[in-house]
Amino acid sequence: MLAGLFATLRAGFPADLSRPALIEPSAAVLSYADLLDRSGGMAAALREQGLKAGDRMVVQTSKSVEALLLYLAALRAGIVYVPLNPGYTRAELDYFLEDAEPGLFVDDAELARLVTAPARDFAEPELGGDDLAAILYTSGTTGRSKGAMLSQGNLASNAATLIREWRFSGVDRLIHALPIFHVHGLFVATHCVLGSGASMLWLPGFDADAILVALPEATVLMGVPTFYTRLLARRELAPELCANMRLFVSGSAPLSAETHREWEARTGHRILERYGMTETGMLSSNPYEGERRAGSVGPPLPDVGIRISGPDAEGVGGIEVRGPNVTSGYWRNAEKTAEAFTADGWFETGDLGRFDGDGYLWIVGRAKDLIISGGFNVYPAEVEAAIEVLDGVAEVAVVGAPHPDFGEGVIAVVTPRAGAVVEPEAIQAALRDVLASYKRPKLVLVRDALPRNAMGKVEKAVLRRELADVFGG
Ligand code: ATP
Ligand code: MG
Repeated sequence: MLAGLFATLRAGFPADLSRPALIEPSAAVLSYADLLDRSGGMAAALREQGLKAGDRMVVQTSKSVEALLLYLAALRAGIVYVPLNPGYTRAELDYFLEDAEPGLFVDDAELARLVTAPARDFAEPELGGDDLAAILYTSGTTGRSKGAMLSQGNLASNAATLIREWRFSGVDRLIHALPIFHVHGLFVATHCVLGSGASMLWLPGFDADAILVALPEATVLMGVPTFYTRLLARRELAPELCANMRLFVSGSAPLSAETHREWEARTGHRILERYGMTETGMLSSNPYEGERRAGSVGPPLPDVGIRISGPDAEGVGGIEVRGPNVTSGYWRNAEKTAEAFTADGWFETGDLGRFDGDGYLWIVGRAKDLIISGGFNVYPAEVEAAIEVLDGVAEVAVVGAPHPDFGEGVIAVVTPRAGAVVEPEAIQAALRDVLASYKRPKLVLVRDALPRNAMGKVEKAVLRRELADVFGG
């Protein structure tokens, strides 16, 4: 069994601790030695405050180097880290505080106090693989956020796998522009860098200008699909800017095949798309070497089992997973935990997908988003892919609404590209030769924007609620 997460990361630190861990534009560089001293000082301060191993610490701060140091301090002290979206309101926050029952709540003011702790080394307690490292709340795309319990071993095993699979080393410089209350920015990006002795170019959030400036200095970018679409909208994006880059990663939501192609045409790089979730960390990844298939999330990662339950004639069914990275369950929620696991111990992701003949996984959407029209299954992702490539279309979300004749009717909500005009009739006409009639939208709506949650994911539940009566079904 692997040791604790921090010990695993620590084993990858550079021999020369004066090397940079975090580089902020126009601010001091944080070396690995600084990182150890400052997180050590904070770990000691947390302990002196009475927090013991296993106690929870709820953290709702803006993104900062200090906030990242606090995460490392919690790991070192064995305190369970519970980060929250800084955008949550007071009322939303109350739900999480009641659920997590923290020994300490840290906001920006409390963090400012903690960072005054004198820097020093810290003797870590012995931690086992099963000890809880973090409770991470899911993005709340399909309902109320659930607190996924992640152990030291869950996180350490996934970190080691990704560092190997994505070839991280001490020469890498990763642009860190993701939030740090979510699996992608807090775990994947941070662990890959620190566990390989690499450096982060640290940005407070997504900013296309700042990323264009950082690109020539960087080797890796991890982003969500909107990072890539927004960068593609910038004229300055060109192969010369990406001369030192070796890896662009996308995940958290589907990357359209169109974006994949455009990115390659504009930069000369093929984006590596991966699939994962809060409860499991990363599950599958397109290969580092070998073919990266646009629209697929790649084969399962080593150590990760993925199977399709109840496949239909095309092989599409529920995606179920298991592995050392998978959560033991939801915090204080035996009911949701029981629902999430099969009788033989596999975790049900709630996503639908299929494997192609070469073992690449294709996600067709969430089970909750499946539309059944006239008795036929309609996978929104297939309809969205057909609409995305049409002239003038920027984004599209496909949902179902109750329909008196068909059970459910398909609806496409489309946003136009800047300066373009999109006519619903033109979309309907263009789909006639592309999709079987039961898959074609009964209604096309053109909107300025799609509803998105804090992670930038399209909130289909919001659209469904809003459109529930359009067919009078
Ligand atoms: P909640 O569980 O609260 O409804 P959520 O599922 O959006 O929210 P996350 O854990 O942040 O919370 O997201 C995991 C989900 O994101 C996956 O189950 C999958 O639906 C989606 N996802 C992640 N990566 C990809 C990808 N590359 N392609 C398609 N979907 C993806
Ligand atoms: Mg989920």
